[in-house]
Amino acid sequence: MTTIYNFSAGPAVLPKEVLQQAASEMLDWHGSGMSVMEMSHRGPEFMSILAQAQADLRELLNVPENYKILFLQGGGLGENAIVPLNLVGRKVQPATIDFIHTGSWSGKSIKEAKKYANVNVAASSESTSFNGVPDTSTWNLTKDAAYVHLCTNETIDGVEYHFIPDVAQQTDGSPLVADMSSHILSRVIDVSKYGVIFGGAQKNIGPAGLTLVIVREDLLGLALPICPSAFDWKIIADNDSMYNTPPTYSIYIAGLVFQWLKRQGGVAAMEQKNIAKANLLYDYLDSTDFYVTCVAKEFRSRMNVPFYLKDESLNVAFLAAAKERGLLQLKGHKSVGGMRASIYNAMPIEGVQALVEFMRDFAGANGK
Ligand SMILES: *Cc1c(COP(=O)(O)O)cnc(C)c1O
Repeated sequence: MTTIYNFSAGPAVLPKEVLQQAASEMLDWHGSGMSVMEMSHRGPEFMSILAQAQADLRELLNVPENYKILFLQGGGLGENAIVPLNLVGRKVQPATIDFIHTGSWSGKSIKEAKKYANVNVAASSESTSFNGVPDTSTWNLTKDAAYVHLCTNETIDGVEYHFIPDVAQQTDGSPLVADMSSHILSRVIDVSKYGVIFGGAQKNIGPAGLTLVIVREDLLGLALPICPSAFDWKIIADNDSMYNTPPTYSIYIAGLVFQWLKRQGGVAAMEQKNIAKANLLYDYLDSTDFYVTCVAKEFRSRMNVPFYLKDESLNVAFLAAAKERGLLQLKGHKSVGGMRASIYNAMPIEGVQALVEFMRDFAGANGK
């Protein structure tokens, strides 16, 4: 049987070991006689699953003591409203939020934030088709912005920050807020440099339905009166992510992924594997003109690799032939077209090797 490699951008591939463990525990979790899906979220069994998941995530990302880890719902897009509702209260209303516009996802964040605040697009790479992050010396930040929003990995455009901007000097200490949906846990990060980190789970953590927020404690308690209670970070933190029913099964799977990551050697070891995988694919793309990739080298994402066939009339044949080889979900996002290979933590290097081998064969068979 052909080995299947799934390059979906999200919901995305999960470690096989995790799925096997979940399957073996599906009907009876640790002798409890219940599936995790059937458990009260306030019972001792699920409480232990939640506490372990939070502790493992704190260890994996080296989250400082003065940060809360919140598990909630609403997805990355939900946070586009939930973040302003929780943070614009730092300033007198109407407050201003600074955005760095580097692609589709930061663009969506900008659009949503306009409902709650004045929006200042402090820098944008739109004029260069989102091929990178604008140089920080050109960022036109607001002195008293409620916060500065970044999307540190643009899942659709394939643009990743390989640095942490220092905005403190140009502002009155505006906190950095980062949408890390599609690269959290793929690389070592210094959490202390951010006020808030958020992400939907379905790219690099676990199943859809779980949203992760890591927030510095001094940023709690500022929610606007119109903020729904179930999305008020202070209320969620005070109730240890149990203000209302959390997405229990997604938290359980995320917890298994965290344990898997620890067995792999943690985030630093994962980062080395991710660098090797990304290099393999980009080195091949750079070696041929059968395929084209547009992002500037220093901003290439290690997680999401968009590319185009030079002759786009071959797109359908490419996808069909890839599928035949067990290489799935390579079609690019409809807004940008072309192809995209998402190579998250759970994608083994063998998958990237198989992809490169296929791409080389396909180019050869089509006259290159
Ligand atoms: C997928 C994604 C989102 C949207 O997540 P939903 O869970 O669908 O709301 C937001 N930001 C980034 C960077 C993403 O990759």
